[in-house]
Amino acid sequence: MSDEKALYNVYRSYLTTGSLQKFMNDVKTQGIQEDDPRMQRLTIIEKEAEDEKLDFDTFAKCMNPLSSLLKKVTECQFIIPDFQSFTKTIEEIYWMCKGNTSGENSTYIPQLSEVPDYFGVSMCTIDGQRYSIGDTKVPFSIQSCSKPLSYAIALEYLTSEVVHQYVGQEPSGRMFNEMVLDHNNKPHNPMINAGAIVIASLLYTLIERDSESMDKKLNLIKSWMERAAGNEYFNVDESSFLAEREIADRNFALGYFMREKKVFPEKANLLECLDFFFQLNSIQTTAEAFSVVASTLANGGVCPLTNEKIFSTETCRDVLSLMHSCGLYDYSGKFAFNVGLPAKSGVSGVVMLTIPNLAGICCYSPQLDEHGNSVRGIQFCEELLKVYAMHPYDNLRHSITRKSVNRGSDWFL
Ligand code: GLN
Repeated sequence: MSDEKALYNVYRSYLTTGSLQKFMNDVKTQGIQEDDPRMQRLTIIEKEAEDEKLDFDTFAKCMNPLSSLLKKVTECQFIIPDFQSFTKTIEEIYWMCKGNTSGENSTYIPQLSEVPDYFGVSMCTIDGQRYSIGDTKVPFSIQSCSKPLSYAIALEYLTSEVVHQYVGQEPSGRMFNEMVLDHNNKPHNPMINAGAIVIASLLYTLIERDSESMDKKLNLIKSWMERAAGNEYFNVDESSFLAEREIADRNFALGYFMREKKVFPEKANLLECLDFFFQLNSIQTTAEAFSVVASTLANGGVCPLTNEKIFSTETCRDVLSLMHSCGLYDYSGKFAFNVGLPAKSGVSGVVMLTIPNLAGICCYSPQLDEHGNSVRGIQFCEELLKVYAMHPYDNLRHSITRKSVNRGSDWFL
């Protein structure tokens, strides 16, 4: 019997025994949300079943995005099998971090300084199992979290060879907006302002040359982000953009400094490229949507909700490598030591954490530490890693202090 036929029989038996509700509950217990695009297919199947028209052909037609999900539910094969216990841990850590009220909002624009004491954590596994707690539907500007995505999109259009003719791969060991280039007169990496301004200039000047206008280019980049988020919320916050541009003396200075050093591609219009950079920083999303983007990066570029291939696996590897070494400004080394996973922060208080081949997490809390990273965002990641052995150099076989997230606890025996 083919796999699909077997699943059809399983599903039919759910229907005929009147246990469809049980199926829905099983799916939900595993963290699959009702609005998951894969679940929409079920509605068609259900309708046909009600009308007694559900034959194998109809079923097979709806199955494409659904089959792996169905298989996982019936065979309990999700990447995090004990999802309930994992989310319980997340909840405990959330409340522990919520009590930490240290840090200060970014003060340079009112759009950031006047934000209340929000705190939200969302996660999405590479199978699309989701969990959110706190203020995860509040929109925020992604700020520096645009950097790994702009870099990813530049890699897709231009290849790594071309992109790295303009920007390096080394941590700078300096603040994110420091006026410094490496010994080849290139920005150190794409995760700091100098590098991200150059990446913005590549996107603005070298790709899709026939869609010249700023709006068209911005919409193009936004649509990449939306697709990586399974088509969840993204928007451009015009007021943040205008405020960013108004206060951007240092970024302008960086731009002129780099133009003098001939860092930009030929024909780049500096002021337009800087505007484009400010726009990219002002793109808005929510913790829920951004956790899906992080999960797409963790999943080799395939969006776990839509199964759409957004980025190549090589692009993801490049992006995650630089997030690992340079994603958290001047705290990147210590974070790599404590957590060992790729992450990126933004001055709005967002921290995006990817756990390759497992899940993406997005924390949002606007109070920042002295490095410009969200206090609670960093604390959350560090606490999570105290419980689960997800650091690449953790050893499971001989560890007695940390749990494995996706192998039974008896794995140690
Ligand atoms: N808007 C910020 C800046 O250019 C972006 C940097 C960040 O999030 N760290 O200063």
